[in-house]
Amino acid sequence: MKIPKQIKIGANLFKILRGSFRHEEDMDGGSLEWETNTMFVASDMPEDREATCFLHEILHGLNIYLTEEQATYLSEGLMQIIRDNNLDFRKPKV
Ligand SMILES: [Zn+2]
Repeated sequence: MKIPKQIKIGANLFKILRGSFRHEEDMDGGSLEWETNTMFVASDMPEDREATCFLHEILHGLNIYLTEEQATYLSEGLMQIIRDNNLDFRKPKV
């Protein structure tokens, strides 16, 4: 998938930075920095891992109280369901 340069989640507009973040402390491919409204998503992973990481960070943006385990479980489960069923949630064009 093409990961955008920014994303609006609720009232927050997050800028998205791509790069090699996987080996930094406390980062497993991505992170969300509330102080600066910045989302980090590593760009040196397989495409499916990048997309799942992006969804994981979106879930953190939706609910600051989600634990790592909850965000991981939900992002991996939703990604499998969406991709294996070719789901497209966009509004149909009329
Ligand atoms: Zn997380």
